[in-house]
Amino acid sequence: MLAILALSFAKLETKLRLWSIIIALLAGLPAAAQEAEELRVAREVLTRLQPLSFDKHREYCGYIGYNERGVMVSSLPVAGTRDGCSAPFPRNLAITASYHTHGNFDHGYFNEIPSDVDMEGDQKFYMNGYVSTPGGRLWYIDSQIMVTTQICGIACLPVATGFRKGAKGTIAESYTYEELLEKLEN
Ligand SMILES: [Zn+2]
Repeated sequence: MLAILALSFAKLETKLRLWSIIIALLAGLPAAAQEAEELRVAREVLTRLQPLSFDKHREYCGYIGYNERGVMVSSLPVAGTRDGCSAPFPRNLAITASYHTHGNFDHGYFNEIPSDVDMEGDQKFYMNGYVSTPGGRLWYIDSQIMVTTQICGIACLPVATGFRKGAKGTIAESYTYEELLEKLEN
């Protein structure tokens, strides 16, 4: 789960959005190149955070975006709790996406897929989302159409030692927001 800190929402939202658009225009990148770069950065930071997240039984979260030189980077990760993480918006970063890990494998807590709160948070701030799971899955959240899709499946990122496949039934390649709610209820 990822909850985003409540700063002065309306203002910040407009500011962030404008800034993202301006920087993307300045960088002159086609959308596909921007997405490929975003994915590369997400995969790199989440791969690095997986072992720490398992070890500490915590989520870690942050953002991806353009720095002042127009280079796509990830912000420093913030440590969350077993099932939540809040990162303040970093200064000097035109945010395009959020990222977070899902901690360790837990029989009492279903965290192999993004949560409804994850999708809602990204939608609220017009950003994409990247989520890594104990099983080593990497999920992408497209908050414009509210669909989450596995970029890659089990063990494409580091896997938690106690991870047990299929503990909560079959996991689909992608879920709409409504399908996700249904899956999380069962
Ligand atoms: Zn989450």
